Amino acid sequence: MAKNARVQPVALVVDDDAGLRKFGEMMVEAAGFRPETAASGVEALAMIQRINPAVVLLDLQMPGKDGIDVMHGMAAAKCTAKLVIFSGNDRRTLEVSAEIARQRGLTVVASFKKPVAADKLRQVLNGLSLELCPFDEARLRECLEQDLLRLHYQPKIDLATREICGVEALLRCQDATGRVISPESILAIAEQCGAVDEISHAIFASAIGQRRDWSRAGLDLGMAVNLSARGAMNPDLPDRLFDLCVKAEVPPEAITVELTETAVMNDSLLAMETLVRLRLRGFELSIDDFGTGYSSLVRLQQLPFSELKIDKSFVTTRQKSPENSVIIRTLAQLAQNLDLKCVVEGVEDEVTLDFVASLGCNAAQGYFVAPALPPDGIPRFVKEWHTRQKWQRNRNARQQQQVQNPPQQASQAAAE
Ligand code: C2E
Ligand code: CA
Ligand code: CA
Repeated sequence: MAKNARVQPVALVVDDDAGLRKFGEMMVEAAGFRPETAASGVEALAMIQRINPAVVLLDLQMPGKDGIDVMHGMAAAKCTAKLVIFSGNDRRTLEVSAEIARQRGLTVVASFKKPVAADKLRQVLNGLSLELCPFDEARLRECLEQDLLRLHYQPKIDLATREICGVEALLRCQDATGRVISPESILAIAEQCGAVDEISHAIFASAIGQRRDWSRAGLDLGMAVNLSARGAMNPDLPDRLFDLCVKAEVPPEAITVELTETAVMNDSLLAMETLVRLRLRGFELSIDDFGTGYSSLVRLQQLPFSELKIDKSFVTTRQKSPENSVIIRTLAQLAQNLDLKCVVEGVEDEVTLDFVASLGCNAAQGYFVAPALPPDGIPRFVKEWHTRQKWQRNRNARQQQQVQNPPQQASQAAAE
């Protein structure tokens, strides 16, 4: 209902190449725009005043009237559309063209050299879409009414066995216009309009229900769920979560509640009580994004956490900034000294995985293992990961055996 009630901003895709027009059309549609296309500069100029686009995706090189002509026409028509330009030519040509457009009073938001990286274009279009139609309370309500909030699950591996030991539930949403909305935006709006408790409950209910379903299918994974700062101030939370677990026959020990460092480092007695109660009911408690806030070590020791999660900002940039390895090592040691399980997030390559394993960290997650996957992708992923590990272990064993007992032929040949 609401989808049609709103005026959807128009994005005009101008390209003489039919394939690229189709690609542009799909991209703008996914970002929540109503797509229009033009196969030439002439066609584009004829359309611009009529359709009043909010965004124009413009190819510079076209037979007949080219992209520069279209820019001329747009400027003459005082078109306020945001311009995204494309060209198969070099960067310099693109930059000069963008400058010409600016000098003519047009707003260029991005320029792309072909072939266009879909994720970069997606990011630009999503940003524009959110600028033109911000994700607000009405949009959030629409998402709740239409049941558009989803959980995806990012696998975590046990660093001792290298097998999948759990997942972290992460919020995902495409709003009614199809735009991808970040979990942070959803939670910020939910916080503003007082829907955060309702959403938080739905998230826990869904994650715990998922844990039950996997468990019934023979897959027992740890389930980590994020809790917002406000959630920690809700004294009913421990009982509500416990009830969810009882109903689903899921042991609370299988559920880890993740709270950011900043969320718990104020001196709120209420938050302390909620955390202690969660532990008393059997839930694991993880301090998330560790290293980014201002926790004092004394405070950390006073709080009832069972796990410390090293923030991805140190981990993803480790190869570029060697001092981050020192920070990771220090945080891993801190976790050990405080008798906390240590999880590392943001592991994007094997070298980093081996590094954090060598530090004695317990578990890791990151794009090297997998991004967050939809729920039905998890059982298959766990199986494939297990097969891959087994294969690697066998290969390593064979290689080791060869080093210890080189094949006879090789040693004979060497002797001759
Ligand atoms: P977080 O709890 O620190 O979650 C980890 C974020 O890192 C996720 O972003 C995940 O997709 C991303 N990530 C995972 N592996 C890698 C990697 O190897 N490299 C990089 N660069 N990033 C990686 P996402 O899903 O966008 O979530 C962002 C934040 O939103 C979360 O940060 C969490 O604070 C919040 N959030 C997400 N889902 C929920 C939820 O259900 N409830 C609450 N309260 N907060 C949530
Ligand atoms: Ca987290
Ligand atoms: Ca984190």
